[in-house]
Amino acid sequence: MNPTVTNPATGVQAALSAAEDQYRNANPTSLERHVRAAASMPGGNTRTALHYSPFPLTFSHGDAQHLVDLDGHEYVDFLGEYSAGLYGHSHPAIMAAARAALDAGIAYGGPNRHEAEFAELLCGRFPSVDLVRFVNSGTEANLMAIATARARTGRSHIMVFDGGYHGGVLSYRGASPVNVPYPVVIGTYNDVEGSLELIDRHRDDLAAVIVEPMLGGAGAIPGTAEFLHALQSGSADAGAVFILDEVMTSRLAPGGLQEVHGLTPDLTTFGKYLGAGFGCGAFGGARSLMAMYDPSRSGGLSHPGTFNNNTLTMAAGAAGLREVWTPEVAYEHNRNGDRLRDRLNALFMKSGVALQATGIGSLIGIHFQRTPISTVADIEPAVAKRALLHLEMIARGYYFARRGYLALSVALEPSDHDGFLAALEDVLSVHREVLA
Ligand code: PLP
Repeated sequence: MNPTVTNPATGVQAALSAAEDQYRNANPTSLERHVRAAASMPGGNTRTALHYSPFPLTFSHGDAQHLVDLDGHEYVDFLGEYSAGLYGHSHPAIMAAARAALDAGIAYGGPNRHEAEFAELLCGRFPSVDLVRFVNSGTEANLMAIATARARTGRSHIMVFDGGYHGGVLSYRGASPVNVPYPVVIGTYNDVEGSLELIDRHRDDLAAVIVEPMLGGAGAIPGTAEFLHALQSGSADAGAVFILDEVMTSRLAPGGLQEVHGLTPDLTTFGKYLGAGFGCGAFGGARSLMAMYDPSRSGGLSHPGTFNNNTLTMAAGAAGLREVWTPEVAYEHNRNGDRLRDRLNALFMKSGVALQATGIGSLIGIHFQRTPISTVADIEPAVAKRALLHLEMIARGYYFARRGYLALSVALEPSDHDGFLAALEDVLSVHREVLA
């Protein structure tokens, strides 16, 4: 064998092992915390998405766009709490609203003065949402939306899409034994004909079609307008409820991707940034569906929930929509995201490494391939390459998700974008041989 030819698998693995050693040496306090946590939480973890090898960084504090870990390293945060941290770590308007809410005392056991304003602001942004109800997470919002559809139609099945993620118990990336045991019909994302055919085949049983207008967790794969409109009209034709999961994507325009594509879902679900960093979810839509929850109606549906209107989330969430996330800011922020994606793709072309940046606006996926991606099956896992890139960017002071996911916060400055690109260029140049 010619000794000068590098075996790419060995090359990446060797580079990754070296990066992991360097990471361990640089982060002894995070490692110590991880080992201690593993004694009382499985794998030291209480949120699966936060685990990565060899162990995750533990943070001591955050400020604006910066995070500081237990070993004192500062990072520019390009993860943005998986899109929930849209407003950064300490926006003055959010901090003031949260502090005022705390100062007014907590846990009233009655309505507070923030929830109606929060609901008004949300309904005002989303014309399809006549009425809304708050919950505590995106998962809960989707569970409630599906339950609403099943209650209304009296049907059992829900249609989901391969790679779709609607929560910890509603995950359709392969079989998940912890999913809610609803009978599901699984379609292929962006497949118009196949999806319409499936809806038609199950028209008598189908309570709802639920879809992310861009597959988020699966890698920032945008749905085409044709696909999403086909699902909307196919659902209407079959008498099924069309649920648009905008837990992530509602931040991509003032009125979410439904505004961008001109969609009118029967129900929309929200979460993530909506609570301005506090636990939050919401489901809302057509009055005819949501009015079933009016407690003054006899025979209405019940939806209790101790923390549905917790004062902290209601106050901070309302302040976010009122003072931070104005329509102008929403458009400008997503234009900035599009510009960063273009610059990333230009860098990738220049680097000679097969990479591409996908997504829309301020949500970006990075993938080790140039081939087009329209469904989850198109994605190259590239596990070792993703890990190497992730650890090498961390070593340079930039934090994002191992899977190559970026969610830009409003706290990021143009110089942060420049710095991120320069660090990435450096990583690609140092590791060109093994990443190419
Ligand atoms: N729906 C989508 C599209 C999501 O991306 C997520 C979370 O990543 C959820 C639902 C679940 O939200 P939560 O983690 O708040 O339960």
